Amino acid sequence: MTSGKKEGNKISIEGRKLKGRVAIVTGGSRGIGRGIAFRLAEEGARVLVADIDSLNAKKAAEALTEKHLEAVPVQVDITKERSVDEMVKIALKAFKKIDILINNAGIMFRTRLQDLSLKEWEDIIKVNLTGPFLCSKAVIPFMKRNGYGRVVNISSSAGRSVSTLGGAHYTASKAGLLGLTRAVAKETAPFGITVNAVCPGLIDTQMARDTTTKAELNAFIDSFPIKRLGLPEEIGDLVVFLCSQKATYITGASIDINGGDLMI
Ligand code: NAP
Repeated sequence: MTSGKKEGNKISIEGRKLKGRVAIVTGGSRGIGRGIAFRLAEEGARVLVADIDSLNAKKAAEALTEKHLEAVPVQVDITKERSVDEMVKIALKAFKKIDILINNAGIMFRTRLQDLSLKEWEDIIKVNLTGPFLCSKAVIPFMKRNGYGRVVNISSSAGRSVSTLGGAHYTASKAGLLGLTRAVAKETAPFGITVNAVCPGLIDTQMARDTTTKAELNAFIDSFPIKRLGLPEEIGDLVVFLCSQKATYITGASIDINGGDLMI
C-alpha cells in the first residue's frame, strides 16, 4: 500500500493520521459519539468506547473490532468522579496511555423556563458541563506526563447563540462548555495539549429524532442553507482534523459545523 492513499474504502495503515494514538470517546456508543469513534479508529487510533449503557458500549466496540479496528468498551457515568477515575484506569490498563479525550456525552430537554425544575437544570449541567470537567481533570495529568494531548469538547450551536430546540439549561450548559474549553486550553498549552470545542447544528441522531416531530425536522431542514441534517461522521471528520498533526496551532477555538444555519 502507498502511504496516504485510499484503497477502496480502506485507508492505508501508513496514511492513517492518528496511528498509535489512544482515544476516549464519551457517549461513544451511538449518534455523534459513535461517528467520532469510528472515524478516529479508521485513522488508526485505539478507542475506548465509554458510555453509560454498558451493552451499547459493548455493541459499538464490537462493531469496530469486526472491521479490524481497535476498540474497548467501558461503562461510565461521567457525572460521577469515581466512575470517571475507573474509566481512566481501564483505558491505561488496556492501552498504557491516553492521547485524545472527546467529551461528547450529553443530554437535551426542551423544557421552558417557567416549567424547569431545579433538578432538571442540575441534571443537564451535570452531564453537559460537570462531566467534561471531571473527564478533563482525570485525563489531562496523563497527557501532561507525555507532553502531548488533544481534548475536543462537543458543544453545540446552542453554545454559540441560543438553542432552537433545547431549554435555557441546555444553552447554558453548552455555552459553559465553551468557557471550560478556553480556560483549560490556556492552562494546558505549555504541555503540548490543545483543547477545542466543536459546535454542531442539527445532526441526524437519536437525540435529534427523539426531541422533534417529523414536521419540525422538515421545517428546520428547509430553513438551512445546506438543505439536510448533518451526519455523525462529518463531526468525526472535523474531530480527526483537530486531533491530527495538521492542527497543532489551534487551541481554545469553538468551531461551527451546521450547514450554514448559524453564521457568526
Ligand atoms: P445521543 O444520540 O443521545 O447520544 C448521547 C450518548 O451519551 C448516549 O449513548 C447516552 O447514553 C450517553 N450518555 C448520556 N449521559 C451519559 C453519562 N452521564 N455518562 C456517559 N454517557 C452518557 O446524542 P447525540 O445527538 O449523539 O449528541 C452527542 C453530543 O452532541 C451531545 O453532547 C449533544 O448535546 C451534542 N449535540 C448534538 C446535536 C444533534 O443535533 N444531535 C447538535 C448539537 C450538539 P444513553 O442514551 O444510554 O443515555
